[in-house]
Amino acid sequence: MAYVYDDQNVFAKILRGEIPNRTVLETEHSLAFHDIAPQAPVHVLVIPKGHYVCYDHFALDASDAEILDFTRAVGKICKMLGVQADAAGDGCRLIANAGVHGVQEVPHLHVHILGGRMLGRMLA
Ligand code: IMP
Repeated sequence: MAYVYDDQNVFAKILRGEIPNRTVLETEHSLAFHDIAPQAPVHVLVIPKGHYVCYDHFALDASDAEILDFTRAVGKICKMLGVQADAAGDGCRLIANAGVHGVQEVPHLHVHILGGRMLGRMLA
């Protein structure tokens, strides 16, 4: 079954410039901005500019260039914000909610980068 993309979702509107955002990084294929309701001192969302509903959609259908750009953008933002998991940073959590069981609110792929404090232990 094909993925169905709703171009009226809030991140599509951000990409079209119809809704403002606090941009952290923009690359050829990706955009990262602060979450409007942060759950941690660092809470950034990274989205591809292409119309992908969720991570599996992106991973299966995006071009290699889009995937590389997006993956590198996540890494760059972690370093920029000091939440990389090396000797100089304290680490973070990456989350990509997908679909109904994943309780995905906005149907445009986004990876949450959460950090800046000790996070709770959770997988579900
Ligand atoms: P989800 O549950 O993984 O889909 O998370 C959607 C996220 O988008 C939530 O953390 C919201 O706070 C965030 N969000 C919704 N609207 C906006 C917005 O206009 N700007 C930035 N973040 C938003």
